[in-house]
Amino acid sequence: METKTIFKRIIDREIPADIVYEDDRCLAFRDIQPQAPVHILVIPKKEIPSVNEVSESDENLVGHLFVVIAKLAEQLGLKSGYRVVVNCGPEAGQSVMHLHLHLLAGRRLNWPPG
Ligand code: 5GP
Repeated sequence: METKTIFKRIIDREIPADIVYEDDRCLAFRDIQPQAPVHILVIPKKEIPSVNEVSESDENLVGHLFVVIAKLAEQLGLKSGYRVVVNCGPEAGQSVMHLHLHLLAGRRLNWPPG
């Protein structure tokens, strides 16, 4: 039986999401459990489980995700700053095995992170 991740189901429009950007290679939507006033997830449409599985053939795609982050930051007027987070593996708290960049903004973000 096919088991899709929740993000693949969002890509396939099987479950709804508050989509803020889409193109042929990626999708950006608001996190269902926001950790900051702005909390957007940017994901490739290609199914890459985590950073561990990123290969040289994905270099352009992964760069594109950052271009989209920069565009969103401009559109949303995140002039005071923002944070981009990628959790990889259980100890980092990765809960969905489909590569995703968290874009967090709208409040003071402490360092070191929790
Ligand atoms: P991770 O913990 O893997 O780095 O991040 C996964 C993120 O996906 C979490 O912040 C979680 O709130 C979000 N998330 C999980 N399920 C859904 C969903 O069905 N819809 C949306 N929009 N976000 C989700």
